[in-house]
Amino acid sequence: MTAIDEEMRPAREAMAREVERLMAELAPRLNHKALSDRVLRVLADVPRHLFVPTDRMSEAYLNRPVPIGYGQTISQPFIVALMTDLLDIGPDDRVLEIGTGCGYQTAILAGLARSVFTIELCRPLAERAAKTFEAIGLTNVTTRVGDGYLGWPEEAPFDAIVVTAAPPSIPDALLDQLKPGGRLVVPVGDRSQQLILVEKRRDQSTILREIIPVCFVPLTRRDDRPG
Ligand code: SAH
Repeated sequence: MTAIDEEMRPAREAMAREVERLMAELAPRLNHKALSDRVLRVLADVPRHLFVPTDRMSEAYLNRPVPIGYGQTISQPFIVALMTDLLDIGPDDRVLEIGTGCGYQTAILAGLARSVFTIELCRPLAERAAKTFEAIGLTNVTTRVGDGYLGWPEEAPFDAIVVTAAPPSIPDALLDQLKPGGRLVVPVGDRSQQLILVEKRRDQSTILREIIPVCFVPLTRRDDRPG
């Protein structure tokens, strides 16, 4: 942590408290009750201002999404916290993230898991995120430029998988790459999306739970991109 990171700590702690308050307010209507102390602690620790563009740093600790360029956004802290909490990550877990973006959610996951593997389709975003991970000294993150629909078969299976852009339906490859006993969190849908929690049982069967309506950028197919 640098001096400026420490200077931002009160703002970060206030953001974590706001996220906790919002969770308590929404809990009666959500399929999820409260955020764990571990998740609230990493939320108060990860320097979010280093993940937003420098001209938008003043917005870093507000509970809202912020544009990060290339038509993408850094997700709202509340949603990052909720998705992370749903994954119920243990200290020995290996986690796959689809859609690195600026890398904020990756850094939150890295504060909880043994290792995080993260895939981003847009090369400049992936490269910028990798630099940020280096700058803040994250050593348990592996990045890759590629199509998240395919997952990361060479590193599978994973204890937890999170998708931070919305596919029209749950990609089969990701279900296949989830360990029995593992959890997958994914926003699914077109115009109207639902955040879905998938739990894979020991016998390979799956249970799906709808958590909350959400609004994510689409998980694009590589072929959808111009060029
Ligand atoms: N995880 C980020 C949010 C990223 S926004 C955060 O913490 O704020 C979603 C990201 O998914 C974008 O960067 C977008 O480029 C990426 N994306 C879209 N389609 C993809 C695909 N098929 N494979 C991998 N990444 C994809």
